[in-house]
Amino acid sequence: MMPEKKIALVWFKTNLRLRDNECLFNAVEENDIVIPFYCLDDHLFQITAFKFKKTGDFRLKFLKESLQQLEQDLRKVGSGLVLLKGTPEKEIFKLVKEYGAQRIYAEKEVAPEELCTQKKVTDKLLGLNCSFSTFDCRNLFRAEDLPFSLELLPDVFTAFRKSTENKVSIRPVLPKPLAIPSPPIAALNLAILNELDSTDIIADPRAAIQFKGGTEQAHQRLHYYLYETRALSIYKQTRNGMVGERYSSKFSAWLALGCISARELYEAIKKYEVAYRANESTYWLVFELLWRDYFGFCMQKNAKRYFQRSANLQSMLANTDQFNMKLNHWINGTTGVPFIDANMIELKLTGFMSNRGRQNVASYFCNDLCLDWRYGAAYFEQQLIDYDVCNNWGNWAYLAGVGNDPRTTRYFNIDKQSATYDPDQVFQQLWLES
Ligand SMILES: Cc1cc2nc3c(=O)[nH]c(=O)nc-3n(C[C@H](O)[C@H](O)[C@H](O)COP(=O)(O)OP(=O)(O)OC[C@H]3O[C@@H](n4cnc5c(N)ncnc54)[C@H](O)[C@@H]3O)c2cc1C
Repeated sequence: MMPEKKIALVWFKTNLRLRDNECLFNAVEENDIVIPFYCLDDHLFQITAFKFKKTGDFRLKFLKESLQQLEQDLRKVGSGLVLLKGTPEKEIFKLVKEYGAQRIYAEKEVAPEELCTQKKVTDKLLGLNCSFSTFDCRNLFRAEDLPFSLELLPDVFTAFRKSTENKVSIRPVLPKPLAIPSPPIAALNLAILNELDSTDIIADPRAAIQFKGGTEQAHQRLHYYLYETRALSIYKQTRNGMVGERYSSKFSAWLALGCISARELYEAIKKYEVAYRANESTYWLVFELLWRDYFGFCMQKNAKRYFQRSANLQSMLANTDQFNMKLNHWINGTTGVPFIDANMIELKLTGFMSNRGRQNVASYFCNDLCLDWRYGAAYFEQQLIDYDVCNNWGNWAYLAGVGNDPRTTRYFNIDKQSATYDPDQVFQQLWLES
């Protein structure tokens, strides 16, 4: 008797790439038939408890572009992308039955809502004899390679860095599969994508960068930032900038959807160092990627604390007239504080804001406006093209003093910050003079 064929589904989520994708790599190694799919989860297109969209238009456009690119990449290796839309547990259940799949390969989740969705999917699969396996796809480090268990993750970034940097090895990038054994898969259903309500985005010529989703664009940006401009070699000096394409890497949007992996970036930085010499700046980009890892691991350790209201007793009750007025001024860049307003207008019109800007507007929101930080974080979640659940809620919690760091508040003196980082007001003029 012929042995039964092993059939697997690969669930793409925020790992929209073929190279360095642990789910895809393992699925292809271990199965005879592999069916890649993405599920447009209805939940991601709803309004949150904070009354913002869960996915705003900038990110939606970027997601559509990334999915189209992913499908093209999958076609090149003999496969395709099944696009589902609805409630993941129901849609995935149907897909498992349709293909007789025995195993699902999915990215490991760490945040509460994502874990809840995953649990609903696995519960629904119980009667189907289909197992569910998860794989780390996000970080530089694998959790099991750390010298401590996650319950003992240091509460301060520096302690985390010192116990991992140059001590824990970063696993090599996994190759992309040369061929994926899939049954015929219909062309990507663009009608489903187009049905999603995204008002046409008007590209603002003042935007720091015109983002476009997908692996190809991610690698083009990498090439531009490292080789065409060699901006990486001066990153440490420019990274607090606010105007233009080169002051920082802008890798965040592609990292957030996994069009490129942190390990691919690390590998590229190491190659660059061999070609052009390592310096403080090349080191600093890896340092920032360690912050990204840290927020990823913190989410696993502290998730519950991250979504709690601030302990600041002065913080105003939500949904009162005064609260709504202050919130709207902040969102629309009409607070009357030029440095804050310029940053908020940039975010509203482009879906992006520099790290310096994010720190200031978040501090202003918590410490000057005294508003419940979760509303600020939820607005960022809607608006940011590079929204990443761990980075966004982790950074906000850190600034609001509800994270794991022992310092309770991080107050930014806005006038001082403006004078230091925008001394000639080039940034403020760019966004405030229309
Ligand atoms: C309130 C607040 C909210 C934020 N929300 C997000 C978010 O939703 N998504 C997101 O990717 N980043 C977020 N950040 C972190 C940071 O602002 C952005 O990653 C960065 O500005 C993106 O631009 P870049 O890629 O040019 O960064 P670069 O300066 O070039 O840094 C390279 C990469 O390092 C990582 N990184 C840099 N700074 C941080 C940081 N503070 N925390 C975690 N990772 C970091 C990012 O992956 C970034 O792409 C937030 C920061 C704050 C203060």
